[in-house]
Amino acid sequence: MTTVFPTATITGYPRIGARRELKRAVEAYWAGKSNQNELKQTAQKIQQDAYRTLTERGLTDDYAIPADFSFYDQVLDTTRLFTALPARFESVRDDSGLIDLDGYFALARGTEHLPPLELTKWFDTNYHYLVPEIGPATGFTLNTEALDDLLAAAEAAGTSARPSITGPLTYLLLAKAEDGSPADFAPLDRLADLLPLYRELLAHLASRGVRWVQFNEPALGADQAVSEAELVQLIEKTYGEFTQLSDRPSLLVTSPYGNLTGLLEPLVTSGVEALHLDLVSTGYDQDALARLFGGDSAPLLVAGVVNGRNIWRNDLAASLHTLQAVGAASVSTSTSLQHVPYDLDLETGLDQKLTSWLAFAHQKVSEVALLARGLAEGPEAIATEVEQAKAALAARAQSSGVNDPCIRERTLSITPENYERPSARVRQQAQEDLNLPLLPTTTIGSFPQTGHIRSLRADYRKGALTREELDTHLREEIRCVIDFQERLGLDVLVHGEAERNDMVQYFAENFDGFAPTEHGWVQSYGSRCTRPSILWGDVKRSGAGTRGEAFTVPWISFAQQQTDKPVKGMLTGPVTILAWSFVRDDQPLAATATQVALALADEIADLEAAGTRIIQVDEPALRELLPLRAEDQAAYLDWSVGAFRLATSQVADSTQIHTHLCYSEFNEIFGAIDALNADVTSIEAARSRLELLADVPESFDRGIGPGVWDIHSPRVPQVDEIEKLLATALEHIPARQLWVNPDCGLKTRAYKETKASIESLVAATEAVRASL
Ligand code: GLN
Ligand code: ZN
Repeated sequence: MTTVFPTATITGYPRIGARRELKRAVEAYWAGKSNQNELKQTAQKIQQDAYRTLTERGLTDDYAIPADFSFYDQVLDTTRLFTALPARFESVRDDSGLIDLDGYFALARGTEHLPPLELTKWFDTNYHYLVPEIGPATGFTLNTEALDDLLAAAEAAGTSARPSITGPLTYLLLAKAEDGSPADFAPLDRLADLLPLYRELLAHLASRGVRWVQFNEPALGADQAVSEAELVQLIEKTYGEFTQLSDRPSLLVTSPYGNLTGLLEPLVTSGVEALHLDLVSTGYDQDALARLFGGDSAPLLVAGVVNGRNIWRNDLAASLHTLQAVGAASVSTSTSLQHVPYDLDLETGLDQKLTSWLAFAHQKVSEVALLARGLAEGPEAIATEVEQAKAALAARAQSSGVNDPCIRERTLSITPENYERPSARVRQQAQEDLNLPLLPTTTIGSFPQTGHIRSLRADYRKGALTREELDTHLREEIRCVIDFQERLGLDVLVHGEAERNDMVQYFAENFDGFAPTEHGWVQSYGSRCTRPSILWGDVKRSGAGTRGEAFTVPWISFAQQQTDKPVKGMLTGPVTILAWSFVRDDQPLAATATQVALALADEIADLEAAGTRIIQVDEPALRELLPLRAEDQAAYLDWSVGAFRLATSQVADSTQIHTHLCYSEFNEIFGAIDALNADVTSIEAARSRLELLADVPESFDRGIGPGVWDIHSPRVPQVDEIEKLLATALEHIPARQLWVNPDCGLKTRAYKETKASIESLVAATEAVRASL
């Protein structure tokens, strides 16, 4: 069965709501403040708004719009669609043996007795998906209820939407083996059991009259544990089988985020009717594409030329050129637009000049529609718009903030020595006068962001508090946090970060070259959103001169005045600042990272001059930007580690540099962590019971603090539990290198469990010290 494929489409759209309506609705539902009907009404409203906007913006062909609304996560939707319920969640099965909406939320959030499914980074983005747990005996049952609801909402809006579903290979490749599975079992072993359900799904959709379906296979653009040869066979088997079905919708396979490399040809010859490629994230050879897709039985090429991940206006001339060169049949986004905010028109506070360089989801849809017209009717049809885009790009390139000669000159004078410190031993000797006990105890930086702190900030925004008054309250907060830590007996203190709303935005606000947005929320996971700042220009600290002015120093110095114990200066690292911002696309990330590193080096120099002896530079996102293909990873680690070293190496030997990493498994990049050359590294480890330490090489001769308290839940760790973890740690790490700390900052915790947990941590440390 074939139906023409739309000439303009997108592979996905945000679903949290332009004003975060879904966030509010699900959170109210979880809190028991609304019922399921109300939640579903909000969901329908979000879908109606989407269909209306997308149609108005030019996605008018049948099946141009994907049906991809999700209450929480697209991978979890697939788990529900096939009832791939892990055995430990048996109790959430509904009366019909399926996963209903409450069961779905139980998998996402856990229950009183069941920890939730694991949350992991979605490719190299800051979105997180819920990891399916598949074992040899996991049962699969098709449950199209949620999907049917989406299709009904589309019909009600007068749209023939295209169901968007995680493809079978990606679904299993992203899954992990259920606990208790045999060692040689991999979820992919269950492909033969899952495929009949996909076939059943295709038959179901066909019976509903659906003519196009989208299977998302991003995992095929990233390196996998399985060999490429094996993946080729699996593609042939999977898509070969699908395409032989007599009554089915036509198939679009998408491959966002990466390059299909050796899997491109097998997909082209698999018999699917349309194949989407991400032509933005990686370079494909255009001539090769033109040849491949020019073949008689080749699928339609759905060309992802509008970047789904950043917020820059498209270079329409370049895109049009690409579309023509590769023989595109349809114009699309490189990835789902779920990674960008809804609508630039909401940002009334942005500088007019900057606005003219940008495109959010709505503007990107217009770009897609426009390019489709240019492709169909010839470039003359869109000549005016192409010229406008060109003019905006030229204006951007010439704008003074985009190219600051002083900053550029400074980066040119960087020397190899700027990345080096003397040996760890020399530094350790110089730091001895810190007089830290064996197994020093510390925390990661933030203390609970209480309702009080949030309301102070809100009052300031409303104008009910002056900056001065706010700062006075914040200093009072710092005084309390220091006092609290002293009473608990911690060794190295922190100021608590009460003045920071967010660990990246705070730096964006104090650096030139960044612009915060007002409504630019993007979903991070479930109901959680982040609001990345726009890194548009050359970076330095705000204020006079090339070096700008210190901004963390007054807070850290104030905190240090309250105590004789050392207080850590607290900064966010260059890679994390980049990863959690929308970064300029007109120069390599490495060049931008260098500028951010210099700005941080300036702040570190000022902290040091003010007497700060310990400075922590957090890099939780170091792993996040790791390229999807092994061959690209060394270059990335080279510049990212370099940026950290550039920021932290201009200090006296006596200054102790800490770093902190979390949110990922770091085992495979421990070499890079070692290369950061920090004096002390704190790292998330409690959930995996310090598994990571097995990968710490014997040559690692600096401090390390594997997290011994999982701060992601309110649960208080007991003393003996922490003692055991410390005993495990001491099997791998000499006592003189071991630090004791939680997994991460305490921002989201309450004081009640914070106090009890730190008490456990200190008591366990004292017991272990006594036994050494
Ligand atoms: N210093 C930050 C904090 O404690 C670190 C946060 C993070 O690693 N995500 O909140
Ligand atoms: Zn952390």
